[in-house]
Amino acid sequence: MTVQLIRGDITKVEADAIVNAANSSLLGGGGVDGAIHRAGGPNILEECRAIVARQGKCKTGEAVITSGGNLPAKYVIHTVGPVWNGNPKEDELLANAYINSLKLAIEHGIKTIAFPNISTGIYRFPKERAAEIALDAVLDFPMIGEKLDKVVFVCFDEENFNIYNEMLK
Ligand code: ADP
Repeated sequence: MTVQLIRGDITKVEADAIVNAANSSLLGGGGVDGAIHRAGGPNILEECRAIVARQGKCKTGEAVITSGGNLPAKYVIHTVGPVWNGNPKEDELLANAYINSLKLAIEHGIKTIAFPNISTGIYRFPKERAAEIALDAVLDFPMIGEKLDKVVFVCFDEENFNIYNEMLK
C-alpha cells in the first residue's frame, strides 16, 4: 500500500473515495465540508438528507457514504470528528472517525482513499496530536496493506503539511 502526502484541496483529488470532515447534521458546513458540497454539487446533499431521514444524524466518530456527485472521486465518506475540549475521550473519537471511514471504504470495495486533517479546523483539535492519532489509526488498521492500494493524507494548510511530513519520515 502506498501512503501519499499532498498539500492541497481534497475536492481535486482523484481517488475512489475522499473523506469529508462533516458535522452530525450531515447538512454541510464550513471548511472542507463546504468545499466538498460546493464542488460536488447538490446530489451529495440529497443523499445526506436521505441518510439522516433513514438513520438520524451521524454521531461523532461514525461515518456514512454517498456518491461523489460531480467530484473526481467516486464516493464521499462523511465522518464526524470530535470538537476539541481537552477531554481524553476525544482522542478515541478522532481515531474512530478514521477507523470507521476505513471500514466503510473496505465494505464498498474502495482501493484508494484520501483523508483531510479531520477536526483540526473549526473543531480546534491540536494538529500534532491529531496527526499522530490519524497516522496510528490508519497505519495500524488490521491488514490495511492487503485491503487498500493507496491512502492519501491531504493537508490544506502548511502547518499540517509540515507535521505530517516530519511524522512520515
Ligand atoms: P473540522 O470541523 O473537522 O475541524 P474543518 O473543515 O474546519 O473541519 O477543518 C478540517 C481540516 O480541513 C483543516 O485542517 C482545514 O485546513 C482542512 N481543509 C479546509 N478546506 C479544505 C479543502 N478544500 N481540502 C482539504 N482540506 C481542507
